Amino acid sequence: MSKDHDFGSLPRQAYSGSLLERAAAFRGDDAKLAVLLRHERAGVYVVGGESIVLKQGAASDPLFSPDEARALGAVRETVFLGLLHDAPRFGFGIDAAAIEALKARADLKLIDLRTIAVQGAVATTHVPPLAEAKAILGWHARHRFCPNCGAGTVLVQAGWRRDCPVCKAEHFPRTDPVVIMLPIKGDRCVLGRSPRFPATMWSCLAGFCEPGESIEEAVRREVAEEVGLACAQVKYFASQPWPFPSSLMIGCHAQAVSDEIVIDKSEIEDARWFDRAELKSMLLRQHPQELSTPPPIAIAHHIIRDFVEHGSGVLVG
Ligand SMILES: [Zn+2]
Repeated sequence: MSKDHDFGSLPRQAYSGSLLERAAAFRGDDAKLAVLLRHERAGVYVVGGESIVLKQGAASDPLFSPDEARALGAVRETVFLGLLHDAPRFGFGIDAAAIEALKARADLKLIDLRTIAVQGAVATTHVPPLAEAKAILGWHARHRFCPNCGAGTVLVQAGWRRDCPVCKAEHFPRTDPVVIMLPIKGDRCVLGRSPRFPATMWSCLAGFCEPGESIEEAVRREVAEEVGLACAQVKYFASQPWPFPSSLMIGCHAQAVSDEIVIDKSEIEDARWFDRAELKSMLLRQHPQELSTPPPIAIAHHIIRDFVEHGSGVLVG
């Protein structure tokens, strides 16, 4: 990634790059899971809603022993996340009310997962399994009733499925695909601004893939809807889990074949063309108007940076 040393050794994007072996074969083995929960090196990530619980010390530590984690509050769901060099890792979901009670404790810190990534609040090896825990526990919190018949569902398969005891439907955790893309024409590309962004930040366009749509079709539709540009070739770049609540960001570069931007104000606040020199100054935080791109934790940063480094070559190969 550090082809152009002007960018320095920026951190990689957050949430991907997990070192955990998911060990899915154990999910149906309750006896094995019970043994893993009693393992002397078993570690638990504790999640309640948007909050991650950390031990507050010289360094913030997100790992609790199973007994420590149970003492924090009633555990609603237990999910087996996988093995880290044979040490089992679990996610415990606890109630929002229990989370509220923990806020007063000086030995704990409650923090959201975006802030963890932006601040580097925990060792980077914890960030992907925290994303896994937050995404799957958030799914459980939102799927306690069968969408087929309305009956209460039960957690099975170590937290990787919920079954309906009435209509027998099996419900699997969902991940929502989102395309995030940079339309390119020659040496220029289009960035947009959401009203939710900080005042000086510009980023890639993005939107959910719709049912019955390929990634390429979603990219072309979203670019057409948001900025009125037609795109031809779409080239996949990389992807990033985005557990807010359960998205997968699919990063692409797209070949724009028209020039005139027509902004859909219901989706974005502004959009315009940027050339590579201006983008570079934004990445390096040297822009004269202090315009900026998203930070390196976000895949948008890397999609933009790849274009700055390689120009329209990103569409080749
Ligand atoms: Zn049902």
